[in-house]
Amino acid sequence: MTVALADPLPVAIVGGGPAGMALALALHRQGIRCAIHDARSRRAGADDPRVLALSHGARQILEWLGAWRDIPHTPIATIHVSQAGHLGRTLLTAGEHAVPALGYVLAARDLIAALDRALEGAAVEYRENSRIDTARPGEDRVEFEGSAGAGAARLLAFAEGGIAGEEARRRDYGQHAVICRVTSREAHRNLAFERFTPAGPVALLPMGNAWALVLTCPDGDSARIAALPDAEFLALLQCRFGHRLRFEAAGPRAVFPLGLRYREAPVAARQVWVGNAAQTLHPVAGQGFNLALRDIWQLADSVGSAVRAAGDPGAPEVLAAYAGARRLDRRGAMGFTDVLVRVFGGGARWFGHARGAGLLALDLVPPARDFLARRMMFGARAW
Ligand SMILES: Cc1cc2nc3c(=O)[nH]c(=O)nc-3n(C[C@H](O)[C@H](O)[C@H](O)COP(=O)(O)OP(=O)(O)OC[C@H]3O[C@@H](n4cnc5c(N)ncnc54)[C@H](O)[C@@H]3O)c2cc1C
Repeated sequence: MTVALADPLPVAIVGGGPAGMALALALHRQGIRCAIHDARSRRAGADDPRVLALSHGARQILEWLGAWRDIPHTPIATIHVSQAGHLGRTLLTAGEHAVPALGYVLAARDLIAALDRALEGAAVEYRENSRIDTARPGEDRVEFEGSAGAGAARLLAFAEGGIAGEEARRRDYGQHAVICRVTSREAHRNLAFERFTPAGPVALLPMGNAWALVLTCPDGDSARIAALPDAEFLALLQCRFGHRLRFEAAGPRAVFPLGLRYREAPVAARQVWVGNAAQTLHPVAGQGFNLALRDIWQLADSVGSAVRAAGDPGAPEVLAAYAGARRLDRRGAMGFTDVLVRVFGGGARWFGHARGAGLLALDLVPPARDFLARRMMFGARAW
């Protein structure tokens, strides 16, 4: 289907993954007309094996979008941060930070299905099998073309899930994530573990009656580890995690490349990038989609204000104001994640002791712990 070039939509969105769908709902809440174009079929997200930890702040945004109620989720009451082979650990608890939970664990496919139902309820247009290949920004509109024809909008929002070629600033950590569900003899009691090991971080998130595991592995080893028979996989996990839990069973594994990719500026002439298309983060601190939701909330607010004032949603001053409003939080989330991966990513033994002392100090200084928890829950609003 083709949009008439003479009648540009206020906003067209390239990519109907979680970020694109959330943006469409946020714009709808602001009374802004938009349409999503996705290269794949609308049901493709049902295969997403990822498990996400979303913060209390992200829950508030999803509630505002009308998508939270339907999502099965497991609350995180406590986060235990430690490093293998060294003393020192820190505990973050929901009670201490006056929130019902530090975060919520949910399946990406349930999130996608809930966003999709909310989109259907709001009658937002979703054009499946419509890959967008080119965009030509002009004076008062941006024209675009793809597998299903051509269209035009005042603003084109890219939520296509990646950053290609020259545009990407990148840092490679030489790591992949192997993800799967595991069970242990012990109940999870809504506790999440973040354990830093010389081979990379191990995250265990409470999910239903099991754990969602994110096992970071060196690049060359991830395919072999993912393909291990269950008993050998569990033995390797036990060895890396330690004996605080006794693992019993493991589900099917999936592998994801890890690294930092970002666009220096998330805006250009009549174009804006959100979600993984703006920045793709290492999942160590579970910041990726949380940050995307905060970007989306601000973008919809900026565009909504412009349209209500009879302005142009793709005007340079609207996009510059959006980028300015998001600069601190965006840099903070990328820097925080990058520092965690690199500081806890290995190094000499004495450095391990220093990190252990840091974790212990963090545990003993409530304001520092409070800052860390609030940074993870609310982004730059933690300041
Ligand atoms: C192992 C792992 C664990 C994670 N854990 C967490 C976590 O705990 N907490 C958290 O907040 N985040 C986490 N993340 C990050 C989170 O998964 C991402 O931030 C989120 O899924 C990104 O969604 P997106 O919509 O930007 O991209 P995607 O889900 O990749 O969606 C992009 C969409 O764009 C479409 N598309 C692509 N190109 C085109 C085109 N040219 N035209 C039209 N459509 C196109 C695709 O078909 C797709 O549907 C994790 C990531 C990984 C890998």
